[in-house]
Amino acid sequence: MSKLTELTIEEALEGLKNKELSAKDLARAHLDAMEEHRDLNSFITETPEIALQQADEADKRIAAGEAKLLDGIPIAVKDLFCTKGVHSQSCSHILDGFKPEYESSVTQKLFDNGGVMLGKTNMDEMAMGSATTNSYYGACKNPWGKKIGVDLVPGGSSGGSAAAVSANLALGALGSDTGGSIRQPAAFCGVTGMKPTYGRCSRWGMIAFASSLDQAGTFGKTVKDNALLLQAIAGHDPKDSTSIPGDIPDFSSMIGQDIKGKKIGIPKEYNAAGMPEEISELWKEGAKMLEKEGAEIVEISLPHTKFALPTYYIIAPAEASSNLARYDGVRYGLRVEGKTLDEMYENTRAEGFGAEVKRRIMIGTYVLSAGYYDAYYKKAQKVRTLIYNDFHSAFANVDAILTPTTPSEAFKIGEKQDDPITMYLNDLFTVAASLAGLPSISLPIGLSKNKLPLGLQLITAPMQEEKLFNIAHVLESAADFKSKID
Ligand code: GLN
Repeated sequence: MSKLTELTIEEALEGLKNKELSAKDLARAHLDAMEEHRDLNSFITETPEIALQQADEADKRIAAGEAKLLDGIPIAVKDLFCTKGVHSQSCSHILDGFKPEYESSVTQKLFDNGGVMLGKTNMDEMAMGSATTNSYYGACKNPWGKKIGVDLVPGGSSGGSAAAVSANLALGALGSDTGGSIRQPAAFCGVTGMKPTYGRCSRWGMIAFASSLDQAGTFGKTVKDNALLLQAIAGHDPKDSTSIPGDIPDFSSMIGQDIKGKKIGIPKEYNAAGMPEEISELWKEGAKMLEKEGAEIVEISLPHTKFALPTYYIIAPAEASSNLARYDGVRYGLRVEGKTLDEMYENTRAEGFGAEVKRRIMIGTYVLSAGYYDAYYKKAQKVRTLIYNDFHSAFANVDAILTPTTPSEAFKIGEKQDDPITMYLNDLFTVAASLAGLPSISLPIGLSKNKLPLGLQLITAPMQEEKLFNIAHVLESAADFKSKID
């Protein structure tokens, strides 16, 4: 058996079942690895006591023949999830010292299914960013940077979770995706990241960024591991009125089936001007791999694609400015005193929020203001419907859509930091699926000239996660990314 930290979730579950390893051994091996790789800054809080206690309980259940779905599997949790009694600040200073009295529905489900929490991961403050450089706790490093001797970003906002899985510090991780925050870091770190249909997972206890877009999701080393993780965290929750009622399907049910006759759409509008040659090559290669497995490749049109990024950067800040109004220094988190109540509010918010969050609050407040509401926010909502309709029409003819995940490989820490628009361009290929609430997955396919991972994204119609995992699994096997790494 390979090193404990190198296992997939699937392999670890098998080993636990056959008593070849214990949950405690697994937890310890990962806690040691975390300590060894603190330089990555992927965890901002480590929770060894919780991990060992949960692992101990898992071992007891396994011994009693009562193992749960993910019993004993060590998982990293993004700092945006409220975890009872544990640091939960969305990596913002404004939530200074906040330790929730309650557990988010997603982490509760993870624990109910036997998941073991290793700690909380680094992220862009309030999930706003594409590089995990906007964290109050400092930048997170991409483990791939070490291999080529450069400090690279892991992507963002769930960069800490992606880096943790990539560096074998956790077997899987939880993230959140509002416009690409799981898929983009997954692509940059050479791991597989999945955002389910909007409403698949409860948002209760997730620190809100943009409520009509925020969705919990997963990181794993394989497609199958993502399906297992999603199985553990999905489901209706009466505490979130936007969570989808009904039974949870078996997300792995189609993994292993072939894709003969399946139609894969290639949206012509995603041929972005200035896209690096190696990204368009990778995209073509991916399509060829699926074709070789029996799928039919068809060119499709998503005519409103070019409006996705500006639409997202109106709607997301608008919702953020409203959600973030609650941080006032009164009830919890940071308080910076002032001579009057107003001054206390101002001092708290001025000191508590970082530059990017302030920028979004200003944009959001502007687009929602009485004089500009119709011109910006209302119009953006209308365009959002057009984007949704584009996908809806496309899915009448195709089973899934294939696109690049990002327009580039991972970049250097500090690069693009002074130019928000260039930073926002990272989300070019991911935001449309978010605006339409569609399930999508990014998986590593090949390496760039600089020997860094590049990913492709698959998208399906809502509630078709089984089919998404099916096609992604075929692509994963065909790409055989692991064999490309030396
Ligand atoms: N990078 C995007 C943003 O900054 C997406 C973030 C996310 O999905 N949370 O808004």
